[in-house]
Amino acid sequence: MSTTSDDGAETAESIRSRHREAADDVVPEHTQLYIGGEWQDAASGETFDTLNPTTGEVLASVARGGEADVDRAVEAARDAYDEEWSETSRAERQAILTEIADRVEEHQEELATLETLDNGKTLMEARIDVEGVAEQFRFFAGATNSRSGHTRDEPGVHGEVIREPYGVVGQIIPWNFPLAMASWKLAPALAAGNCSVLKPAEQTPLSVLRFLEIVDDVVPDGVVNVVTGYGEEAGDPLSRHEGVRKLAFTGSTAVGKQIMRNAAENVTDVTLELGGKSPIVVHADADPEEAVGVIAMAIFANTGECCEAGSRLFVHEDVAEPILEGLIGAAEGMTVGDPLKEETDVGPKVSQEQVERTMRYLESAKEGGATFLAGGDAPDDEALAGGCFVTPTLVEGLDHDHEAVQEEIFGPVLEVFRWDDYDEMMELANDVDYGLAGGVITNDLELADRTARDIEAGYIWVNTWHEMSPGLPYGGYKQSGIGRELSVETLDYYTQAKSVKYGLE
Ligand code: ADP
Repeated sequence: MSTTSDDGAETAESIRSRHREAADDVVPEHTQLYIGGEWQDAASGETFDTLNPTTGEVLASVARGGEADVDRAVEAARDAYDEEWSETSRAERQAILTEIADRVEEHQEELATLETLDNGKTLMEARIDVEGVAEQFRFFAGATNSRSGHTRDEPGVHGEVIREPYGVVGQIIPWNFPLAMASWKLAPALAAGNCSVLKPAEQTPLSVLRFLEIVDDVVPDGVVNVVTGYGEEAGDPLSRHEGVRKLAFTGSTAVGKQIMRNAAENVTDVTLELGGKSPIVVHADADPEEAVGVIAMAIFANTGECCEAGSRLFVHEDVAEPILEGLIGAAEGMTVGDPLKEETDVGPKVSQEQVERTMRYLESAKEGGATFLAGGDAPDDEALAGGCFVTPTLVEGLDHDHEAVQEEIFGPVLEVFRWDDYDEMMELANDVDYGLAGGVITNDLELADRTARDIEAGYIWVNTWHEMSPGLPYGGYKQSGIGRELSVETLDYYTQAKSVKYGLE
C-alpha cells in the first residue's frame, strides 16, 4: 500500500496506515474488565469502541461495565483487602510499587505509543507522562515510611493514634492523562494499604489495561480492579457503592459535584481534582522571549487539555506588544498534525465531542466581540480532515465575565488581557470559580512572591509551567477541588485516624 501521495506529502491514508501499524504492536490483548486478577466480560456482555482521534478509526472494543460489574469488583477488592493486603508490611508494599515502576520503565515506549493512539497527545508528551508514572510509583514506594501514627502521653494519660487504610477505595479518572492519572490514584492508595476499583475514562481505557497486563504478576489478585465503561453506567454506581469508603476523582467540576452528592449517600470521604481557568500574570520587567516560551507551553501543551493549563493571560501593557507578537508567531509556527511524528507540536483533541465543545466556545467568543489574533479553526490540511484537530488560538477583547473566559474550554485557546494597574488586574485574575493553578512571569523576586501569594490557587509556577515534582502537593482552591495529590500528605487522604486510649490507674 502506498503510504504517501505521489509527491511524498502526507495524506490521510499515510497517517491511517502509520497508525494501524503502530496499533498492531501495542493495543492490549485484553480489553475486558480486570476483576480479582482475571480478565472478565461485562455482566451484560456489551462492549463499546474506543477511537483513535487522529484518524477517527476504531482502536479496540472494550467491555462496557455496569452496576453488576462494579459490585463484583468491590467484592473482589474487599476480599483481597481482608485476606491479604491488610496484612502486608510497608516493606512488602514498597517492593511491589518499586517493581511496578521498573516494569513501566521497561515498557515506556510501548505505553507511550498506546497513549498517543488512544488520546492523541504527541509521542513526546506521552513519553513524559510515562516517565511520570514510574516516578509516582517510586515516590510513593518511598513515602510508605514517611507517615505513621503517633502516641500521646503525659502523666496519667497514654493513648496512640493509628492510621488505618479505608479498605476499598473507588477511583475515577479522566482522559487527558490516562495512565498518569491512574498512577496518581493507584500509587498512594496502594502505598497506604488500600485496594482499588478504578474506572478509566471511556475515551481512553487502553493504556490502563495494558499497564495491568504488564504488572499482573506483581500485584496480588484483587488489589487493583478496573471497570471500564461510561461515567453514568460504571462511575455512578462506583461513587454510590456502600462498600467503597473513599472516593478519589479527577475530572470536570460538574461531575465532581455529582460525585460529592453521591458520596453523601454513604458519607464517603472524597478527594476531588477538578477544572481550572488559570491566570498567567506577566510583569513589566519580563523578558519577552522567555515569557513567550512559558506562555506557549502553559496553554498549548497537551493540546490545551490540562486542568492546570494557563488559559487567561494578564500581560503588562509595557511588554504586551512584543509578547503578543511572539505568541502569534509561536502559535502559527507550531506543527499541528500526526502525534506519532516526532516533529509534531500539537496533536488532535481526544474526541469529536471535545472539538465541538471548543468550537462552541470560539463561536460564542466571536459573538462576544473577540478578536482572533491566531487560530480559531481546524487546520487547512486535507490529510488531517479525519482527525480531531484545532489550531492554537489566541483571543483578545472579551469581557472578563464572558462565558468563554469564565468556563474551562479545555482546548488550545488563550484569552489575552492587558493591564497597568496591579490591584485591578489581580481582582480579575481571581474572578473565576476555579483555583487550581496560576503563574507569574518576572525576574523580580519580590513581585514573584507577592503575585504567588495573591493568586487564589493551589499551585503557582514562577517562570515555568506544568512542572510538578512529587513532594509538592497538587490540588485546588475554590471549585477546583478538595484534597492534595503528589505528596506525602496524600497518604493522609487515603487513611483514617483511630485513637486508642488506655485506662491507667
Ligand atoms: P470530561 O467532561 O472532560 O469528559 P468528566 O468529568 O465527564 O470529564 O469525566 C471524568 C471521568 O468521570 C470519566 O471517567 C467519566 O466516565 C466519569 N464520569 C462522568 N460522569 C460521571 C458520573 N455521573 N458519575 C461518575 N463518574 C462519571
